[in-house]
Amino acid sequence: MYTARAYAAASPTAPLASATIPRRELAERDVQIEILFCGICHSDVHQVRNEWSSVMPTVYPIVPGHEIVGRVTKVGAAVTKLVPGDLAGVGCMVDSDRTCESCQEGLEQFCPNLTLTFNSPDKHLGGVTYGGYSERIVVDEHFVLRVPSNLELAGVAPLMCAGITTYSPMRHSGITKGKKVGVVGLGGLGHMGVKFARAFGAEVVVFTTSPGKRDDALRLGAHEVVLSRNADEMNKHTGSFDFILDTVSADHDINAYLNLLRRDGTLTIVGVPPKPLGVAAFALIARRRSISGSNIGGIAETQEMLDFCGKHDITADVEVIPIQKVNEAYGRLLKSNVKYRFSIDMASLERERA
Ligand code: NAP
Ligand code: ZN
Repeated sequence: MYTARAYAAASPTAPLASATIPRRELAERDVQIEILFCGICHSDVHQVRNEWSSVMPTVYPIVPGHEIVGRVTKVGAAVTKLVPGDLAGVGCMVDSDRTCESCQEGLEQFCPNLTLTFNSPDKHLGGVTYGGYSERIVVDEHFVLRVPSNLELAGVAPLMCAGITTYSPMRHSGITKGKKVGVVGLGGLGHMGVKFARAFGAEVVVFTTSPGKRDDALRLGAHEVVLSRNADEMNKHTGSFDFILDTVSADHDINAYLNLLRRDGTLTIVGVPPKPLGVAAFALIARRRSISGSNIGGIAETQEMLDFCGKHDITADVEVIPIQKVNEAYGRLLKSNVKYRFSIDMASLERERA
């Protein structure tokens, strides 16, 4: 065991502050990564503030961060996937049981014994796992992704969660040319959803509550932008969508979007508002519509997504910040005031050296 510098929150109301955390010595299949950038996902904010307490209570201190990109510094004796010096990515998962039905199918994200990157029981060191707002991390090679060398790294970090969480449900729903796709909420997830839907050849419509995001939405790949608080703009699209991806992090009316689906259309929820969302039965039965949910993506699909991004030159649009600005960034994220993902430059942790 050795220590690493990190940023941690001590309670739901405490700001994140400099801390020292333990990291394990390498086991045979472990990879040690020096973290270069870590994205700020809205899930970090939900969990730091214990907003998902009924399902995933937060254990303090918490070190968030599951959009990790860095460089391999050491590998265990049995590691075959990476060598020191390679670029590497780590997302929301660091371990699973590898034996359940989901793991066997490459859907580790649904493993009942999944270990999340932060706030999950740590079977090596006890306590809970600590995430990417830190200088290093040690992860089993199975959960370490290869990163294409042609992409700008600050914008690669968010692919590890925002990227796969939007790529996976659209692949699962067979989004291709000829499909009409809606993306609700132009935040970290939403802006990646727009990029992927466009890259898959779909007709893309963004629903936003922020009039100031209209031009950006078009630049990111949307064919049309709808201000979701304008009923006339919404009504024009009634019954026309094959698929809508809902990335909203707070309470909102999903029936307004169900009504926009065509017969047999699907609304897939990836946003996780702390309170349940109300569903109007009529909005579903009227055209045999479906609601579904989706949780990140498996490791094989995450690698497929990264390779797709390398080939199509896709990264997140990021605002790079030093770790010392993380609390300010959380405040701005809650006001939807970021274009479109914060990416923490982890070299800034150096300033915290005692
Ligand atoms: P984000 O960057 O804050 O984006 C959320 C967007 O939702 C905002 O930019 C805003 O878009 C819209 N929004 C916010 N408050 C709203 C309100 N009261 N009413 C209507 N729209 C509102 O967050 P994110 O990082 O993309 O994450 C989004 C959600 O997905 C979070 O709940 C997060 O925990 C969850 N998540 C789920 C998974 C998964 O695997 N399922 C993975 C990662 C994250 P406009 O300004 O355009 O309206
Ligand atoms: Zn996330």
